Amino acid sequence: HPGVLPATVRADFPLLRGEDAPVYLDNAATTQKPQVVLDAVVDYYRTANSNVGRGHHRLALTATDRYESARAAVGRFLGARHPEEIVFTANTTDSTNLLAEVVGRRVVGRGDQVVVSGMEHNSNLLPWRRLCDQVGARLVVAPTDPAGRVDLPAFTALMGPKVRIVAVAHVSNVLGTVNPVREMAEVAHRHGALVVVDGAQAVAHLAVDVGELDADFYCFSGHKVYGPMGVGVLYGKHDLLADLPPFRVGGGTVKGVRHDEPVHYVPAPARFEAGTPDVAGAVGLAAGLEYLLDLGGPAVRAHDESLVAAVLEAVADLDDVDVVGDPGAVPCGIVSLSVRGIHPYDVGGHLDAHGIAVRCGVHCASTFLDSLGLVGTVRLSFAVYNTLEEIEYLRSVLKTVRPGTWTAEHPTERFL
Ligand code: PMP
Repeated sequence: HPGVLPATVRADFPLLRGEDAPVYLDNAATTQKPQVVLDAVVDYYRTANSNVGRGHHRLALTATDRYESARAAVGRFLGARHPEEIVFTANTTDSTNLLAEVVGRRVVGRGDQVVVSGMEHNSNLLPWRRLCDQVGARLVVAPTDPAGRVDLPAFTALMGPKVRIVAVAHVSNVLGTVNPVREMAEVAHRHGALVVVDGAQAVAHLAVDVGELDADFYCFSGHKVYGPMGVGVLYGKHDLLADLPPFRVGGGTVKGVRHDEPVHYVPAPARFEAGTPDVAGAVGLAAGLEYLLDLGGPAVRAHDESLVAAVLEAVADLDDVDVVGDPGAVPCGIVSLSVRGIHPYDVGGHLDAHGIAVRCGVHCASTFLDSLGLVGTVRLSFAVYNTLEEIEYLRSVLKTVRPGTWTAEHPTERFL
């Protein structure tokens, strides 16, 4: 363990205890859950389970209280000004789809433009692409430089009066690159565009302050930040959310309906949370964020930094192993590797056979991988429980990787 976090951290995660525990380096896909999160979820069901926002009995009020406390905790974590700026969704993908349907359909019309970066995950690409196809707008892709970073001058040059929305990842899920979101937002706002930030890979690693970034909307998933699967977040500036029509409609979105009168929807956030929400998920997510806050942002970042530095050092003298792109000045716990002449799937299979879990391939970002000229990468992604010993072990296993079936079946040029 790099020593900047308590040595006891690993013991907080039941799945990582014991002899057979994996060397889990696939945290950008989902993190493991600490006992405090599991306890929060179980405690909710054991002591407070009821439907929220509707009932008039004490248990319903307790459940509503826990749900709204979780919302307030997420708001504080992101630096939101009001808890009402936090909408609970199912995940990042759900949040971006909501935005494309609700904000996109309102502000993007025929001949307009939506700008995305060249490194977007499909979840922050396809909702915008579909919107543009549907309304006759153009999706414009801001280029990345050879190191896989957003090219800020090129992005700025793309901006003009037709751009209505800029949608960008805060941190790349492929390379761990931190995008200059604040600068991009400033440029976008100068041109009257709204800014949507996909924070799925940022919240577990950076000190995110939506006010400082001046993001109009910010999305993330609970399961990537030590919380449960099935709950996500959409932050939206108060005045923007207040002005939007609902997305899904149904129970919880109105006070009352009359067949012969217009429907009046309740304000945000309930307006965007039709149906019964994942209350235990929201409670668990708040517990995950609290766990992270207790460890302390600076210590978490120092930990990320030491693991990334250790990987770079560990592979520096492995001649066939290349680091893809530039993990950057603020490492976010992701390093993508390419092993010369060996398909990423073969590398992944070999690592798995030795108990190391990584993600290989295009990481739901094939357009980015295409622009890098790669069929895929071997992505190592870290969390607070990873150790320097695990990196050392990874290095020893990487030294023994050999070409396999994927390598035999596919031409090598593209993944060199
Ligand atoms: N955006 C980015 C940058 C991601 O890394 C991911 C998850 N891989 C997503 C969006 C989608 O997250 P989810 O599957 O939780 O909706």
